[in-house]
Amino acid sequence: GAKRQGRNTYRFFTSQMQAQSMRALELENALRRALEREQLCLHYQPQVDANTGKILGVEALLRWQHPKLGAVSPAEFIPIAESSGLILPIGQWVMATAAQQLKAWRDKGLLHLTMSVNLSARQFHQPQLPDLVRQVLEQANIPAQVLELELTESAAMSEVVAVEQTVAELQKLGVRLSIDDFGTGYASLTQLKRLPTYKLKIDQSFVRDMDNGDADKAMVNAIVRMAQAMGLRITAEGVETQEQLKFLQALGCDEAQGYYFSRPRLPHELEPFLLQDSWKAC
Ligand code: C2E
Ligand code: MG
Ligand code: MG
Ligand code: MG
Repeated sequence: GAKRQGRNTYRFFTSQMQAQSMRALELENALRRALEREQLCLHYQPQVDANTGKILGVEALLRWQHPKLGAVSPAEFIPIAESSGLILPIGQWVMATAAQQLKAWRDKGLLHLTMSVNLSARQFHQPQLPDLVRQVLEQANIPAQVLELELTESAAMSEVVAVEQTVAELQKLGVRLSIDDFGTGYASLTQLKRLPTYKLKIDQSFVRDMDNGDADKAMVNAIVRMAQAMGLRITAEGVETQEQLKFLQALGCDEAQGYYFSRPRLPHELEPFLLQDSWKAC
């Protein structure tokens, strides 16, 4: 009967939830040792000028290869790193490693290249973040202007007041702030105006939905117009096809990033493309 079915449903969900939290616990324990065991590495994805295809910068994306669990997706382990606090040492490693990689590329003549690093809300809310960033810049010997910190819309907009001091110091330092996954969070225009944002990155779901037709295209159009009106640079994420690129160009989007240009790659895989002037005509 219904009662019995109800009970079975309940049992089904609890065992599923149990399995999920077991997995999360297993991942958290493994993640605790991932840094010292050198299981983490960074891949880099080009950010290109939407009109010329010239590589303007790269985004560092974290990868975790575990001997038994295999490759674990950031979508799965970043939330665990955030809830456990492990994102603080890991995020620091990411920033330092990315800065050193950029230095190595600068030494090969790539002085125009920028480096984007993703920051979690937890890192952003550390009062000592500006000091940590300053140390990273000094140790890698790179100027602040080439480092971009990417914050998701929700991370940037939660408690704007609480992070105002941090933001002011970061701005004084000269690093640039980008709002990542823009359009999926809940930023009010007032909040957006308060943050000294350099760049908006349109979330890839909007770019994908452009294929559906005019209403979805109008949405991307509106975001681009708003960014332009606010004097912000605008990047489209998740560009996979030439059709998407053509439309984004027509709208006046500044930069593009996505599989159409390149997947995230290891430094030695990406380097030949970086050293070419323009490897993918737009
Ligand atoms: P994100 O910062 O928005 O990065 C873009 C994600 O989209 C990356 O996934 C990238 O590999 C993927 N992507 C790029 N181009 C395309 C495309 O054309 N099509 C599709 N379908 N996907 C594309 P990834 O590397 O799995 O990272 C997922 C998220 O994990 C990132 O989203 C970011 O929020 C987070 N993440 C990655 N590395 C770090 C890190 O070092 N620190 C922090 N805090 N978060 C990170
Ligand atoms: Mg990002
Ligand atoms: Mg994004
Ligand atoms: Mg994302």
